[in-house]
Amino acid sequence: MIDYNKVRVEISLANLLANVRRFQGVCPTIIPVIKSDAYGHGLAEVARALQGEGIATLAVGFVNEAVALRRSGWVGRILALLGPVDDEDTVALWEHDILAAIANADQLARVAEAARTRGRLAVCLKFDTGMRRLGFRPEALPQLLDALAANPALVPVMASTHLASADMPDREAQVAVQAARFQDVIDVLARAGHRVEANIANSAGGMAHAGCRMDSMRLGIAMYGANPFYGTAWEEKGEGLAQTMQVSAPVLHVHTLARGEGVSYGWTYVTGRDREVAVVGVGYADNYSRSLSNRGFMNIKGHRVPILGRVCMQMTVVDVSRLVGEEGPGVRPGDRAWLLGGPGPGTIAPEELADWWDTIPYEVFCLLGMNPRSHAA
Ligand SMILES: *Cc1c(COP(=O)(O)O)cnc(C)c1O
Repeated sequence: MIDYNKVRVEISLANLLANVRRFQGVCPTIIPVIKSDAYGHGLAEVARALQGEGIATLAVGFVNEAVALRRSGWVGRILALLGPVDDEDTVALWEHDILAAIANADQLARVAEAARTRGRLAVCLKFDTGMRRLGFRPEALPQLLDALAANPALVPVMASTHLASADMPDREAQVAVQAARFQDVIDVLARAGHRVEANIANSAGGMAHAGCRMDSMRLGIAMYGANPFYGTAWEEKGEGLAQTMQVSAPVLHVHTLARGEGVSYGWTYVTGRDREVAVVGVGYADNYSRSLSNRGFMNIKGHRVPILGRVCMQMTVVDVSRLVGEEGPGVRPGDRAWLLGGPGPGTIAPEELADWWDTIPYEVFCLLGMNPRSHAA
């Protein structure tokens, strides 16, 4: 976490819960995904907010995240999507009652070996139906079933696979292929006596592909208020989610740039006329990307103000001319400049910031969320 700055990240847990509720009732069982510090929203705080919301299972990535979640006081089921990567992780599955995804024969052998002394372990079997990252290939099912038969202490209770293109309207056919392959896997498992909770859908899968809802869905980005279909023909399917993260930084200095003057390193921006500029105390050291140089906007007092010149390590210059004129509200050192969210018509959506940054809201949340953070109910 970053602690050397004056950036403030404000998380609305009420909005996060409102987003979760949108899925409850539509999808049979929701597994909120809170890996990577809940996409920058705070693992423990988000888990606590979800308590009492009818959520039985939370998903994280690495087993050490699962341990941190258990230590935070979460007593429900924890799914570690990446499974154990070393002996410390393996032991933790028993010690902290963690359901781990097992994605290859090595992982299976490791937990089977530990099960000999530690006893029964419920596991999630992860299948690769097309993403080509992690998981058993469907063709490897016979060997997998043999390994399970040889290690009855390992009890598959869940099976998962991950969609590569659920958010792309022109890839519906590929989603259907993955779903069909996965259904075949589930059927084979069932015939071998393994009745598992099956899940395939992430946010986009649950929203756009009713056939992918299965027994449970793994809900990530939509819970954090970003539309997975932004910029596509399906954009309206993801509209109306509530923004959960807002980020601001202080104005440090306000002054006038005369016509023809450059600003910031390299003078990559030169004024065509006199301009009022504000220097805001945030930069790439605060995970506010340098790729926003001459491209991004901030929101000051409800007005969109463009970034002028290069984003620096701890400072960014914005054009506040429109705020400083006769009609404007004025700008002074100490005022807040919003990088994300903020008041009024200038409010900045995560999808917009991600566009200027040339990335996706996932990365915006993970990176900006490392700054000093507070949570409101
Ligand atoms: C991160 C993740 C999700 C959540 O995806 P979103 O697109 O954020 O909803 C679901 N499943 C797996 C395996 C993941 O790694």
